[in-house]
Amino acid sequence: MQKNLNNLYLKSFIRCKRKAWLDYQGNKLNKIWTPHQSIEIINRYKNFYKLSDGDLYSGTKACVKGSSGVIGLKARSKVININAEIQPQLLKKVGGFSKWGEYKYIPVVYKLGHRTTKEHLFDLGFCSILLEPFQESKIEKGLVISNFSNQLNIQKIDLNQQLRKKVLNTFLKLNECLKKSIPDITEDRKKCTICSWQKFCDKEAKDNGNLTDIDGIGSKTALSLQKNGILNIKELAATKKIDLGEKLFQFNEQKFEKASKFINQSNSYLSGIPIRIFENENLSYLLKNKDSGFFIFDIESNPDEKHDFLYGFLKVNNLFENIEDDLYDPILNLKNNTKKSNKEIIQKLFSKKSWPVLHYGETEKIAILNLARLIDLDVKEIENLKSRFIDLHLIVRGSWILPIRNYSLKTVANWMGFKWKQKNVSGSKALYWWIQYKSTLNDLFLKKIIKYNRDDCLATLHIAKWLIKKHENIN
Ligand code: SF4
Repeated sequence: MQKNLNNLYLKSFIRCKRKAWLDYQGNKLNKIWTPHQSIEIINRYKNFYKLSDGDLYSGTKACVKGSSGVIGLKARSKVININAEIQPQLLKKVGGFSKWGEYKYIPVVYKLGHRTTKEHLFDLGFCSILLEPFQESKIEKGLVISNFSNQLNIQKIDLNQQLRKKVLNTFLKLNECLKKSIPDITEDRKKCTICSWQKFCDKEAKDNGNLTDIDGIGSKTALSLQKNGILNIKELAATKKIDLGEKLFQFNEQKFEKASKFINQSNSYLSGIPIRIFENENLSYLLKNKDSGFFIFDIESNPDEKHDFLYGFLKVNNLFENIEDDLYDPILNLKNNTKKSNKEIIQKLFSKKSWPVLHYGETEKIAILNLARLIDLDVKEIENLKSRFIDLHLIVRGSWILPIRNYSLKTVANWMGFKWKQKNVSGSKALYWWIQYKSTLNDLFLKKIIKYNRDDCLATLHIAKWLIKKHENIN
């Protein structure tokens, strides 16, 4: 039996046509669990509960009863002769008249980030089209809600005819798309990072040699290369730098530099062999200090609440010494911005004033310098602290081209042979554990986060050792 088309498929279709197709008829065994989705569901429920003042119930019965918030409702109808269904995230009771009495419901969606997107608007628009006949009442407005730093934000959306017309057009396109064969992988691969079909699509992209598998090539560059007859990574690798540079005019004076980078990256990706490019200034600083002691530092945070909940330090007298458990020190910041943990962190870093601080990516440095300012550290001392940071991400990118798709800590350290003790972990999974901890206060989640963060520190150390060893082997 054919499934009804619903607002969830419509949302997926706006994001990526292929995702809608896979959600509708793909093999569910190829789907993976993503922490991002779970975080969204948990946060969504918490905020819906807040918006409904706790009067949040499920299904049609809740509508009849007149609950302030209703989740889990399904309503079916034909839309342009197509069997359709809505599963609104939340219905909020407002003043008016409906078949249930002197009130009616409007649709509400939750957004995780700051931006209200077409997905949110179309979800509201589509739900209102089916909800109106269902409750026998017009709907003029919908709500997009979000929560930052514990503050509930409510945005009113006008569900006008123009929006509804666009929604119906897209709904027809969705219907057509689902009748055809599976659509191509999206050119905008950034969308794939939080998608549950990522593994399935990654494999196909690799087999096809998709241009967007090359670091730095986004949808626009891929499209312009395709227009110029370069269809896959093999063809890109075989292009001459001068010819490619001319085709990359959108990068202006950087076009030949970009051409060289893309060709090298393609060659490395195909051969599996890393390519040494420049002697990076930050690498020289690392090499000059290689016999010193080091702090290795990594943070876990909740960006929506601007809360760094764990500062993990590894303190090593020598980069190549055996790492015992007591060398790792996790400083938890369970309540945001407590002066006690801020001081503890700065004191720790000043316990060895000359030691460099290794980290991967700019977040860590920014966070520590903010802490230093918060506790009113002397300007000179802040400058001194600033000069001790060594960003390994900058060194890797500046001195090597590696046979990988991106230069995140996970991808780089994994490629260099580092293995995380817990399977399928990521920053979002740590955030998911943190959210679980906050609602259950079960220490098990904190232990998982700490174990993960320790591995992140060790992975950073692993990269530093790899860079030094490679440099010594070459010179
Ligand atoms: S992984 Fe990417 S291409 Fe595949 S369905 Fe998801 S968003 Fe689309």
